[in-house]
Amino acid sequence: MTQTQSTSNEPSCIFCRILRGEIPSTILRKSERSVIIADLSPQAPFHALVLPRRHAADLGAFMKDAAPGEIDDLFAQALTLIEERGFDRKGYRIVINTGEDGGQTVGHLHLHLLAGRNLGWPPG
Ligand code: 5GP
Ligand code: ZN
Repeated sequence: MTQTQSTSNEPSCIFCRILRGEIPSTILRKSERSVIIADLSPQAPFHALVLPRRHAADLGAFMKDAAPGEIDDLFAQALTLIEERGFDRKGYRIVINTGEDGGQTVGHLHLHLLAGRNLGWPPG
């Protein structure tokens, strides 16, 4: 098994447990390197989470060990799903909350995909 195909192995991480199938989730899209699930507590009519299969606590930790093209996959998968659902027509938002001030509550890098209403600015 290559590194890109391996699943995460952080026993206590909620998203690793979802990726291992130990916690149920609504899966919207899968690639070799990532899985997109519906957020349990949606903040917009469409709210999905792009989860890299490789555990990394946040964007900085992810990039430190990223293989070429690894970050691209997260955005490419996100964009494909957004375009499939037609959200590119009216717009959407991709968010990476990081750390305490960034509002991150789960320590496994994830992209929020939000769409389906006017999202407003600035955030919170
Ligand atoms: P953060 O606050 O770290 O940016 O985002 C974590 C997100 O994960 C939140 O939007 C929260 O609703 C979502 N979340 C937390 N636990 C679960 C879960 O067990 N299943 C799913 N599908 N989403 C979850
Ligand atoms: Zn994890």
